[in-house]
Amino acid sequence: MNSNIAIFPGTFNPIHIGHLMIADTALIQFGLDKIVFIVSPNPPNKLNSKEFLSINKRVELVESAIQSNKAFETDLRELKREGPSFTIDTVLEMKAEKKVGKLHFILGLDSFLSLPSWQKAKELGESCKFLVAPRPGWLEIDVADSLSSFHDDLDWALIDSPPLAISSTLIRTRKQTGLSYRYLMPNDEVFEKYNF
Ligand code: ATP
Repeated sequence: MNSNIAIFPGTFNPIHIGHLMIADTALIQFGLDKIVFIVSPNPPNKLNSKEFLSINKRVELVESAIQSNKAFETDLRELKREGPSFTIDTVLEMKAEKKVGKLHFILGLDSFLSLPSWQKAKELGESCKFLVAPRPGWLEIDVADSLSSFHDDLDWALIDSPPLAISSTLIRTRKQTGLSYRYLMPNDEVFEKYNF
């Protein structure tokens, strides 16, 4: 049994230092034992993107990025599912396996605000404690005003991480336009594997 586990679902297209920073900040702030990176092969909200790295490449980059941190690991169960993968299915499976009442769930403020539109949002909300990372652009808005009544019932806390204006989109765009992105990537190995 391990109740001090947090899942960190994402598309990681590609993984960047913002992901690692919020994961490590949450690990320490909330006294967690383990962060499980869950790579979503076909996230329902991003199905139309033409800029997707293959799932194998995204997993390879995540594994290279986290190898030096013993508290970080991947869980690849969503790769085996047909069609769109829904986080609620992963959460319910993991809760049953780990025998925990609630899982910690790391996500950015943008994702937290969009939760009401997620698959089986109510059940997901009851199954997790949400650890929410601030994101620039989302801080200027009044967070309290943006939370819906759905959020009132959730168990959540803010991750005390500095807001970083880094996204996978930024890296993809900089790569396409020939701008530097090397030091937005977790390490040289990830950079070299992505810089093809
Ligand atoms: P994209 O730019 O392709 O939409 P992304 O950078 O948001 O990607 P994802 O893999 O989709 O990366 O994100 C996984 C989770 O990490 C999401 O909950 C997202 O909100 C969060 N996240 C990503 N980057 C940051 C960041 N810089 N600060 C806080 N949260 C972040």
